[in-house]
Amino acid sequence: MKRDLTSVFHAQQHAVEQAPYPSLSTRRERLGRLARMTKRHQHDIVRAIQADFGKRSETEIRLAEISGVLQAIGYTRLQLWRWMRPRRASMPWRLLPAKAHIVPQPLGVVGVMAPWNYPWSLAIMPAIDAFAAGNVVMLKPSEHAPHISALLAKLIPQYFTEEEFSVIEGGVEVAEAFSALPFDHLLFTGSSQVGRRVALSAAANLTPVTLELGGKSPAIVAADADVDRAAAAIVFGKGMNAGQTCIAPDYVLVESRRLDAMIKALTQAIAHQRPNDKDATSAINERHQQHLDNLLEEARDHGCRIIDAGPHAPVLIIDPTHDLAVMREEIFGRCLPVIGVKNIDDAIAYVNARPHPLALYAFTDDKALQLTLRQHTHSGALVFNETLLHHAVPSLPFGGVGESGMGSYHGRHGFERFSHLRGIFYQSKRPSSRLIRPPYRRWLMKLLRLG
Ligand code: NAD
Repeated sequence: MKRDLTSVFHAQQHAVEQAPYPSLSTRRERLGRLARMTKRHQHDIVRAIQADFGKRSETEIRLAEISGVLQAIGYTRLQLWRWMRPRRASMPWRLLPAKAHIVPQPLGVVGVMAPWNYPWSLAIMPAIDAFAAGNVVMLKPSEHAPHISALLAKLIPQYFTEEEFSVIEGGVEVAEAFSALPFDHLLFTGSSQVGRRVALSAAANLTPVTLELGGKSPAIVAADADVDRAAAAIVFGKGMNAGQTCIAPDYVLVESRRLDAMIKALTQAIAHQRPNDKDATSAINERHQQHLDNLLEEARDHGCRIIDAGPHAPVLIIDPTHDLAVMREEIFGRCLPVIGVKNIDDAIAYVNARPHPLALYAFTDDKALQLTLRQHTHSGALVFNETLLHHAVPSLPFGGVGESGMGSYHGRHGFERFSHLRGIFYQSKRPSSRLIRPPYRRWLMKLLRLG
């Protein structure tokens, strides 16, 4: 197994040596192939994802896995020429008439480790940015989504040579060996716990990593917020993929005096958005389902009020104590704790006392409060009066901070993530630098003292 992995890697390295700077048209053509593969095989993608989950909403698959990927490819193909252009850098007057440029250069072989929750899009989205930047890609899909893993392993060789885009299937052992390869960049999407191991493994090769991790993304409902509007957005974010979304709102903080109104609004939004099982999605497997059942059971045993509208709808857990697992761990499922706080300052203090989340959702139109949240909290992204949709804005960097990850991608940010921004200096034929070379003249010292 190990030899295979290494020989594929070496073949890709060799290809990079042969073609170190793919042209704009080669890159656009590769992106076109990614789009064709996704478009032509969309029925297979839907079927494979549904087989992996048991039950998963086809509409949500088309929204999040297929349409999202195609839009990102379209945007990147359109913008790429602009991103690839060398940028002029300004020159201090003392060094004129020299010139300087910043030129994005491909890194080489990029490793991508994908999770199971959006198993197509989170495998392909990093590849879009890596190809745009002129790299080749080696992908390790998640073993927890075996049908999509097999589909990727079948389709990618039909559209790409092994040197351009290869797929390595396997479990934890393969994943460990994969993360130990001396990639030019490694992007890992998964839990913070495994992210740490991946970073350690990459450190041995000084491989730079992008870690797209998770955590508990809070939703703060401020005093001025319309609870119905907030509830509709929160239920949308929590309901999507049955809560198995890295940026799903994990829990809600609301002023205690509005707790009842919030619960009512959430209950109504759940009834409206998830009236039956038609668009239902299951937990990825028995183990994960068991884990989610345990979270709920523990909260119930501790006397929490629970409002459950059915097995495939968000389930409200009212005011759980902070020592319960549902408040200590990322939920990644349909449980939605709703917690009363004294006021907005308490909500901010609550968020700041915990690891930086991947997304922070705040429901408020109060400009002063929006500014306070911008300046006094940390999170991968800060989203006002909505959930999830920042992910669909290709000009926004997507990534975490602290415990929720490092580095970001999507659009130009992804292009630059997978490029080396190389500084290039062009000296002129009549360089001013000869004036500062030894033997040093007295006036030079005077000039330097001037600062
Ligand atoms: P995970 O961390 O449990 O597993 C990810 C992969 O890591 C597995 O497929 C496995 O093959 C591999 N792995 C396991 N042990 C390893 C080791 N020692 N060395 C190297 N690789 C190893 O994550 P998951 O269950 O697939 O996904 C869920 C998590 O991913 C959640 O925490 C979620 O928030 C996060 N997530 C983040 C994003 C994002 O974009 N930031 C997107 C989706 C999911």
